[in-house]
Parts: sequence; structure tokens; C-alpha cells
Amino acid sequence: MSEQKTERDVDSLSEEDVLEHLNPRQQLFCKLYAENYNASKSARLSGYSAKTAQRIGSENLSKPLILRYVRILRNRRAAELDLSDADLIATWALIVTADPSEVVEYRRGACRYCHGTNHAYKWITPREFEKAHGDYMLLCNAKQAASIEPLDQGGFGYKRTLGPHPECTECDGMGQGFQYLHDTRTLSPQGKALYRGTQTTKDGIKVFLADQEKALEQLSKINGIYDQPDAGKTASAIGTWLNDLRARGSKPPVKSDP
Ligand SMILES: [Zn+2]
Repeated sequence: MSEQKTERDVDSLSEEDVLEHLNPRQQLFCKLYAENYNASKSARLSGYSAKTAQRIGSENLSKPLILRYVRILRNRRAAELDLSDADLIATWALIVTADPSEVVEYRRGACRYCHGTNHAYKWITPREFEKAHGDYMLLCNAKQAASIEPLDQGGFGYKRTLGPHPECTECDGMGQGFQYLHDTRTLSPQGKALYRGTQTTKDGIKVFLADQEKALEQLSKINGIYDQPDAGKTASAIGTWLNDLRARGSKPPVKSDP
């Protein structure tokens, strides 16, 4: 069969028929192109020289038999991805557009010495101080005291949510870092799709989030399936579509304090 046939002529050909008319290098080109939507890259990877890859890539995309095979491969991919499952696609879209800081943030706040009187250790409450002092006295009575006596010169009312003091002699104005987990009951739909749960470990709470890169990859593949096998058009369609998704993304995280 001649490659001069039109797209319409080859549209009903089976995969077997098409493969009979494509050499191994062309077949490889189609497989790569159906995956990456990049004609010159696919030509280069299927064995054409770097010098001719761009020209061959674009020539290949004008050949009806090659386009037919690319469509067959993409249709198969669409079936594998089960495009009827619109919920799955919607979930991926939510994951891609979610802002991880809506779930968990790394914040810096005051250290114990930042706002203490004369930058001495500041206690949260008198009760906290009394407990520490009581423990110290017990150790003293047992003649096991190895630490310095806790003093309350720095005062009470420590809040780590206050910003660091720029002249703190202890932390040099850097403050102390801590993880802040937002209440997962109030997450946006994007945040809910991203959040996968927590686990309490000996080092603190571990937060699990869905893989945004993977979700983006899945969406890009699905989006490409609907495009004509034209490299430029496809790339720009994916870009526009994903930009649109991002524009509809989550709002900035709510700045609620603990
Ligand atoms: Zn400090």
C-alpha cells in the first residue's frame, strides 16, 4: 500500500494492516510519539540523526499511515486509563490544583528566650514552671540533681506563635521552626483530595499527601488523547488546559492560629 493514501483511506485499517506498511523505525517513532507528543524527540529516539530528526519528525506526522497507528495506540491508552471514569479524572484535577500549605505549613515562631524578660527563659504558665521546679527539687532531695535550678525571671505567657525577637540572644532572631497542621475538617475540595492521612511516629506527626506530579502526568496523558497528532497544537492544548485548571485552583490557605 502506498503512503500516498489519505487519512480517510486508512481510517478503517486494522493495526495489523497498518504495521505491514511501517518499517520498525517508523513503528518505534509512533510508539514514542503517542507517549510524549514530541515529534523531533521521537524521531531522534527512534534512531534518526539529530540533524534530520526535526524534519523527519514533521514529515512523519504528514503520513496518514503513521497518524493512523498513532491514533490506534492512543485509543488503546484511553481504554487502559478507563476514561469513562470521570470521577477519577476530576480527583486528579483536584490534586494537581491543591496547595500543600493548605494542609501543612512550616512556620517559624518565638523561642523560649525571645520575649522573656531580659531574654531569660519564659514559661507558658506558672503551673508549667512549678512542675519543672518541683521535679528539680525531688532530684535534689534524692541527691540526683544534674541540671540548673529552673528560675522564673523570664516571666510567663510564652507563645510560639509570636514572631521571633530580632535581638534574642539565644536564637539570634531566627526563632524556632515548627510544623503546623491545619484542621483537616475545614479543607477545600482540593485540600481534601490531596490529604491522605497522618501517622504518629516517635519523631512527631507524619503527614501523607497524594503525589501531585503523578496526577499531573496522568492528566497530561488523558488530555493529549483528545488532541490531533500535531506536536505544536497538542503541547499548547495541554498547556492551556492545565493553566486553566490552575487558575481555578485552591484559594490561599486560611491563616488560622493554633
Ligand atoms: Zn529567640
